[in-house]
Amino acid sequence: MITKPLLEVSELSVSYNGFVKALDSVSLQVFPGELITLVGSNGAGKTTLLRAISGIVKPQSGTIMFRNVDLKKLPPEKIVRQGIAHSPEGRQVLGQQSVEDNLLLGAYVRKDKAVQSDLEKMYSFFPRLKERRKQRAGTLSGGEQQMLAMSRALMSRPELLLLDEPSLGLAPLIVREIFRFIEQLRREGVTILLVEQNARLALEAADRAYVLDSGRILLAGSASDLLLSDAVRDAYLG
Ligand code: ATP
Repeated sequence: MITKPLLEVSELSVSYNGFVKALDSVSLQVFPGELITLVGSNGAGKTTLLRAISGIVKPQSGTIMFRNVDLKKLPPEKIVRQGIAHSPEGRQVLGQQSVEDNLLLGAYVRKDKAVQSDLEKMYSFFPRLKERRKQRAGTLSGGEQQMLAMSRALMSRPELLLLDEPSLGLAPLIVREIFRFIEQLRREGVTILLVEQNARLALEAADRAYVLDSGRILLAGSASDLLLSDAVRDAYLG
C-alpha cells in the first residue's frame, strides 16, 4: 500500500510587502508519523513556511494540501480544526492568563470529554506546569513558557504539530527535557514539522530534513545522511 503524505506543500511562494520573497517555489512532503526538520540560517524562510501552513501569512502562489484540503483557502482557526497546531517562535503564551487557562485555550476547538485527562497528561510530563497552574503564564521562566507553549498546542490533539525554535535561548538541561518530550510525542504517533536553530540536535531527532536557503529548498534527505553531508556540516553544524 502506498502511504499518502499528510501534508504536501507544492511550489509555495510567499512575499512580504510585495517584494521580500521569503519563500520561492518551496515543495515538501510530510508523511504520517514523521518528524521532519527544516534547517537553514537566519532569514532562510523557515518561520514563514510554518506561518503559511497555519494560515497566518497568505502565500502568493502554490498549494498546501493537508489530506485532501487546500489550507490556502482557510483562515487560521479553521486550520486548527483540520488538526494542525502551531507552537510559535517566541512561545507567545498569554502572560496575564494562568498556566491552566492557557492550556484550556489550546483545547477550545474540542468538544470531547477528554480535555481534563489531557490536561493531567501534560502536567504529568511537566510537573512544573502543574505546580504553577494557577500562576500567571508571564511569570514563568523561558523554559517553562516553552513547555507551556508546546503543551497548549497539543491540547487541541493535533495530527500535525508545527514547532518553531523550541530550544531558543534555553539552558542545555531544559533543551534536553524539551527534546525528550518531542521524542515521546513522536513515539505516540504525532507528526511533527520542527524548525530548530540547533541543527545538530534537530537532525539527530528527525527522520528526514529539508535545508532552506534564501527561500528555496537546497537539499533534502534522510536526517542521518544530511548529518554526514559536507555541505550541511560546513554551513550549519559549525
Ligand atoms: P529566523 O531563524 O531568523 O526566524 P527564518 O528562516 O525563520 O529565520 P523568516 O523569519 O521566515 O526566516 O524570514 C524570511 C525572510 O522574510 C527574511 O528575509 C525576513 O527578513 C523576511 N520577513 C520575515 N517576516 C517578515 C515580515 N513580517 N515583514 C517583512 N519581511 C519579513
